[in-house]
Amino acid sequence: MSSPANRRPALLDLPIDLLREIFDQLSPADNIVFATTCRAVRNCAGRGQFPADAEENQEQRFEVLASMCRDMPDRWVCEECMRLHRIDTADTPADSSPTCPLADAYGRFNQPLQLAPADEYELGRRHVQLALKYTRLGDSLRPSHRQYLQRLTAARQFSLSYAWEKKAAITAKVAPRIVDGRFLLRTICEYRLPSRPVTRDLIASESVCRHQQFFPLEDGAWTSSSLHQDLRQFPRAVGESFASPGKEVRGHCPHCFTDFSVTTTARSVRISVWMDLGTESSPLDPVWRSFVHIAEFPPVEEVEYIEPGRVRELYSSGEEGEE
Ligand SMILES: [Zn+2]
Ligand SMILES: [Zn+2]
Repeated sequence: MSSPANRRPALLDLPIDLLREIFDQLSPADNIVFATTCRAVRNCAGRGQFPADAEENQEQRFEVLASMCRDMPDRWVCEECMRLHRIDTADTPADSSPTCPLADAYGRFNQPLQLAPADEYELGRRHVQLALKYTRLGDSLRPSHRQYLQRLTAARQFSLSYAWEKKAAITAKVAPRIVDGRFLLRTICEYRLPSRPVTRDLIASESVCRHQQFFPLEDGAWTSSSLHQDLRQFPRAVGESFASPGKEVRGHCPHCFTDFSVTTTARSVRISVWMDLGTESSPLDPVWRSFVHIAEFPPVEEVEYIEPGRVRELYSSGEEGEE
């Protein structure tokens, strides 16, 4: 009787032609990962090969790293170096320090998401990747990883004052949430002037995403085309909000998964933003690229957000009695 260690995997008892047919169905990335499982598989299937096309090759390499990293809680995939890096549990969005030799310049792929409290909260793709992985691994996590997950998804609050510029007091609250395997982020910014009523200038050049920015003195001439209308969802909501104080005016960005709302009163402007940053994928994912500028790639607009309110609703569905 053979011991379990010596037993041949049942898969390898299949006729070789049938096996080849199975291997042919796998993606090059899956073939390469499969070939790392044991010598018998490698002998039968070969080592697998990356495609010759450079761009496809790069994507396949990412896929191999991601597959290998799926169940490794101590590693994250760095697309910049094409390697797995060891995690550093001190590296969080509130104190961002990627464990990558190329981290100083952030490179092409480690660029963080830029939010309103820009210097205080730098969410990187690795934070998203690790938080989603830990959530998926769930009960099998060690306490240290569970604590790291809590820090990666912790809500933060910041008080910012631009006294030299607008004499405004700004409170920003950032609260990540994972729902249905997607990383969602809600940001609420409140702008106040201590001694006088608010004006539009208070939120001049503020934005809700890469596509929606507010300029109070905008020349209306260039904005008549439908493409530019798409980019004016936030300015439109700001205008409507100043025209109807106290009412929450809702909007969305057609070029990324973002819902937002603006509420203006005599004393404050409140801007709430809900973002869906996508699933456990690489920085090449169009969903992530729609939020973060990656110099390597032209600013293609691949994401079309045609279900306004979906992200906000999904975020609230994960509340479960919190707040
Ligand atoms: Zn790296
Ligand atoms: Zn957008």
